[in-house]
Amino acid sequence: MSSSVKEFVDSGEGIDEEEFLSHLEEVQEETKALRSSAEGLENRGGKLDGLPVSVKEQICTEDFPTTAGSKILENYNPVFDATVVERLKEEGASIIGKTNMDEFGFGTFCTNSAFEVPRNPHDTDRVVGGSSGGAGALTAALNYPHIALAESTGGSISAPAAFNGVIGITPTYGRVSRHGLIDYGNSLDKIGVMSKSVYGAALGLEIIAGKDENDFTTVEKEKGFVERLEKDVKDMKIGVPKQYLEFEGMEDNVKERFEEAVERLEELGAEVERVNMEKVSRKYAVPAYYIIAVSEASTNLARYSGMRYGKEGYPEGKDFNEYFSEVRSEHFGEEVKRRIMLGTYARQAGYREKYYVKALKARTLIIDEFKEAFERYDILASPAMPIIAPTFKEAENLSPAETYAMDTLTVGPNLAGLPHASVPMGFSEGMPTGLHLIGDHFEEQKVLNAAAAYEEGSGHDMAVEV
Ligand code: GLN
Repeated sequence: MSSSVKEFVDSGEGIDEEEFLSHLEEVQEETKALRSSAEGLENRGGKLDGLPVSVKEQICTEDFPTTAGSKILENYNPVFDATVVERLKEEGASIIGKTNMDEFGFGTFCTNSAFEVPRNPHDTDRVVGGSSGGAGALTAALNYPHIALAESTGGSISAPAAFNGVIGITPTYGRVSRHGLIDYGNSLDKIGVMSKSVYGAALGLEIIAGKDENDFTTVEKEKGFVERLEKDVKDMKIGVPKQYLEFEGMEDNVKERFEEAVERLEELGAEVERVNMEKVSRKYAVPAYYIIAVSEASTNLARYSGMRYGKEGYPEGKDFNEYFSEVRSEHFGEEVKRRIMLGTYARQAGYREKYYVKALKARTLIIDEFKEAFERYDILASPAMPIIAPTFKEAENLSPAETYAMDTLTVGPNLAGLPHASVPMGFSEGMPTGLHLIGDHFEEQKVLNAAAAYEEGSGHDMAVEV
């Protein structure tokens, strides 16, 4: 598949529209990855020349509804395209639809969507990973060159990429514009790309990255991800955080796949070493992430009050608080309510110092620990997820705290705003696993190059039959 994206884009020949749409329908029947889809393909020249692009439901598009997976936004039709969508369209992308997600991005399995829950194309009894689950399932199941726009706050690109056996790259915070993204946690949110090949991911990132006057946190930095893409890890120093492998929830098979991946990277010329990184462990990183994420989310969600966007109720005879609670109680899901309560509590006078401020301090220590590691290593590596995609039953039996712990390996790089990618690492019990490669700030190229070297060197064939 990796060369077909390139061949397709280079050939500029386009796709047979009818065949594509009927395949898309089959994929949709099997996976329920999409919330809405296009009725046709538009070929428009540019670098992408009609390449199919899907967009996560959290990213605004003027041609499709944008619900963020929530009932409260069920009828929300944005009047503009997010910057990332605009940039892809300018390069000739065909937007083929919007992909399902956990409500407002709150989840690790995509079982928190207010709408249909997507199913893993490798085994439809299993979850797709969250929160960009629709993007992961669609990317895996679609037998065409395709780029998915996804978003990560604490691991929402890596988790579905690992569970579905595709590439998912999350860029450095500030590399890609968030204008037109429905916020989860503003200091953490990053739009990134999923694709079946590293080439596709590099190409998508190349187009969406860069300064945007509508998002003042963006910066202009060197790109050229595609031209500079080299399948090369020779002389790269790779560190493996010891604490990640010691996470007690890690499945043995996943650990074995990872040890094999390390051997492969060494054969390809990298030098790999264990490194002690206490602060990124579950004990510090998971609570710090969840306190900061829910604190920011609880303020962001205040805007959904049945007055400005989406669902409305009947305000007659009610005071503001009554009306506000009624609309929110009816249209927010359980996980959303849990997070609003947790976030409001953590920010409350009297508790703020104890939780929110403490979490911010822990975040600084985590960033320092990463920065120190990158003085010695080009890349840090670990499994992306400690488990394979659980069955729906298994996922349901996990408590919220157990579910949050599944993010142990992804929250660290997200808290630190570091670029990272999950690359297919082979199968365990017939399900895909992911290799996590983390780079220093704005070192996406190193992450992509290591990913491309491993992609070719590992020779994993991740094809799914739909
Ligand atoms: N699973 C994490 C959470 O629920 C990350 C989600 C995300 O990155 N949007 O917060």
